[in-house]
Amino acid sequence: MKAPANFIVSPRWLVSVVPKRAPLENYSLVVQSGKISDVLPAPEAEQKYQGLPKYELKDHLLIPGLINMHGHAAMTLLRGYADDLPLMQWLQEEIWPAETRWVDAQFVRDGTSLAISEMLLSGTTTFSDQYFFPGSTAEAAIEAGMRCQIASPVLEFPSNWAKDAKDYLQKGLDLRDEFRPHSLIEIASGPHAPYTVSDNTLSEIAKYSNELQSNIQVHLHESAQEIEDSIKEFGKRPIQRLYDLGLLGPNTQCVHMTQLIADDMDLLEKTNTSVVHCPSSNLKLANGFCPVKELTDRGINVCIGTDGAASNNSLDLLAEIRMASLLAKGHSGDPTILDAVSSLECATINAARALGMEDQLGSLEVGKQADMVAIKLDSPESTPIYNPISQLIYSANSSNFSHSWIQGKLVMEDRKLTNLHLPSITKRARHWAERIRGASND
Ligand SMILES: [Zn+2]
Repeated sequence: MKAPANFIVSPRWLVSVVPKRAPLENYSLVVQSGKISDVLPAPEAEQKYQGLPKYELKDHLLIPGLINMHGHAAMTLLRGYADDLPLMQWLQEEIWPAETRWVDAQFVRDGTSLAISEMLLSGTTTFSDQYFFPGSTAEAAIEAGMRCQIASPVLEFPSNWAKDAKDYLQKGLDLRDEFRPHSLIEIASGPHAPYTVSDNTLSEIAKYSNELQSNIQVHLHESAQEIEDSIKEFGKRPIQRLYDLGLLGPNTQCVHMTQLIADDMDLLEKTNTSVVHCPSSNLKLANGFCPVKELTDRGINVCIGTDGAASNNSLDLLAEIRMASLLAKGHSGDPTILDAVSSLECATINAARALGMEDQLGSLEVGKQADMVAIKLDSPESTPIYNPISQLIYSANSSNFSHSWIQGKLVMEDRKLTNLHLPSITKRARHWAERIRGASND
């Protein structure tokens, strides 16, 4: 059927996340003009909305679309390019030189389309990104009909995209103006990390973001070396430095946060700053553990990101949620931490809160945007079902996500992406890899 504007979805189970954490069985959800207009028992919907087109999803669980809070989408083109190295060596000897040689607007466009395909097929409807040529990222997202926060990168050193901090800042402001009309795109500021951005520039970012009420996303406390170097150079821990420069607050998202002492957590708590946990990337680069139990015990908002495909190497957020849940239990010695529902909250309502979009995203509530995904739970690994949320988090495979809507528009139907031509996207990615591989064999 041609995707209708107003329709009903009748899944076997529905988890709204808010207000109800428990699954609803045999409920229907009604979408009108891109928003959720009703959630009610299926027989009542049958009566009340006669004639509306209906998606009957008899073996499916419907949940809010997953929100991947941190990544570098275009780096899918460097997936598997360099593995098994410490963070600084990986960056300085492998990633940064490869980026200098290859990254341009087309690289970003092609790599982002590949990333978006992977994310849509695994249940993600919103992603946050931080990479060069962010205009190309935004264009790829718009083409796919995907929602995106773009943290426009800021560094002190030149890249193929900008020449110095001032240039990065100006380009970020221009980007804001350019994509203002697009409701799927939110432009934020992305100071790369405390060790690549000066005090002056960080203060500028704090000032702009405060004036524009825009979000900030920064890599922070990613490795032990970052803390050591900061104490040597500035006489304080990185998070203290950001706090002193006015960078922390409810609009700020700190990514990684593996090296935390009580004083650091006091600052997060006091300023209502969000943490983006990227467990696979932290494990792969052997950077340490984000203390999720201590953070959540303090009421600090924790969400989840995959990080880029060069350091994960997968953008499967469902797998990342499972990793976060298991790791939190193993690391804290407390199996009750990040139970299935709380884990799902991290990737839905907590992420919406971090984005400042809690009133629009992150749950299947009346009045919110119809960003939602359905997963089919009839395969062997999902059978039998006592609790569909347990099944989703602990055993389901993300290749069973079947349908996805963003702003009420169908972007995946029976695993077919409606706006993208996947064979051409994978073909372009393979072509890039041939060029990159060919050059490194010279
Ligand atoms: Zn990152």
